[in-house]
Amino acid sequence: VPRRIPYFRPNAPAPTRAPAEKERTKFYSSARWMRLRKAFLAEHPLCVRCETEGRLVPATIVHHIRERLERPDLALDPANLLSMCDKCHSSLHKSKGQATG
Ligand SMILES: [Zn+2]
Ligand SMILES: [Zn+2]
Repeated sequence: VPRRIPYFRPNAPAPTRAPAEKERTKFYSSARWMRLRKAFLAEHPLCVRCETEGRLVPATIVHHIRERLERPDLALDPANLLSMCDKCHSSLHKSKGQATG
């Protein structure tokens, strides 16, 4: 009998997620956030960081100035948001030592 265990993948990451990541996924897939994000990007279509350097780069990410976990009350406040391109957003979070948000 061939040894076939289709769902056993020893090198796969553990299926359990950290609670913070679960919460994050929930937030970013919420209808309220998606609506706000879309409206915000329509209103602020360019990356603010690139713009200060004279480059006109379309923004793809809406960044929270005050981290969501730190100020959940500002998570849906347009005054707490910034339009950014993917590159600027990753470099910002890298320098801050945070993953995303
Ligand atoms: Zn940028
Ligand atoms: Zn961010």
